[in-house]
Amino acid sequence: MFPRRDRGLFVPEPIRDRLEASVADAHPVEAGGFLACERDGDWLRAVDHVALANEATDPTRRFRATVDERAPGRPRVFYHSHTSAASPSGLTDTDRRHIPERFALVVFAPHGDAYSYRLFRRGLVRWRELAVAPARTVSQATLPRLP
Ligand SMILES: [Zn+2]
Repeated sequence: MFPRRDRGLFVPEPIRDRLEASVADAHPVEAGGFLACERDGDWLRAVDHVALANEATDPTRRFRATVDERAPGRPRVFYHSHTSAASPSGLTDTDRRHIPERFALVVFAPHGDAYSYRLFRRGLVRWRELAVAPARTVSQATLPRLP
């Protein structure tokens, strides 16, 4: 089968509200979990949000969780927040090495409120950035990042 082209992720408003509430509640601890998704053409569409407890020993700088039966089936997007202004808005070197998922979303929230969403897909050699948009009405020629 010809490999599917992944263009990006739609995060509808109700899912975004739930994700952002869990990020704000956890602040300054990094929040994380999964977005359960459905295929929408070349895009993924988030249909549910599953927050996981941060089990890192240094939870304001790392997110670590046990992936068990609470995790949705694939396709799914693993997300975590970056809660320090000194953190990058995208993946850190540690993230690139240790996230065992195909899709990784970083929610940059240095003050508790989400400042940006950046989505990455694991490739053979490196992680590649994909688009994040609230809905299909947004131009797909660009590389939008929420908000
Ligand atoms: Zn990270």
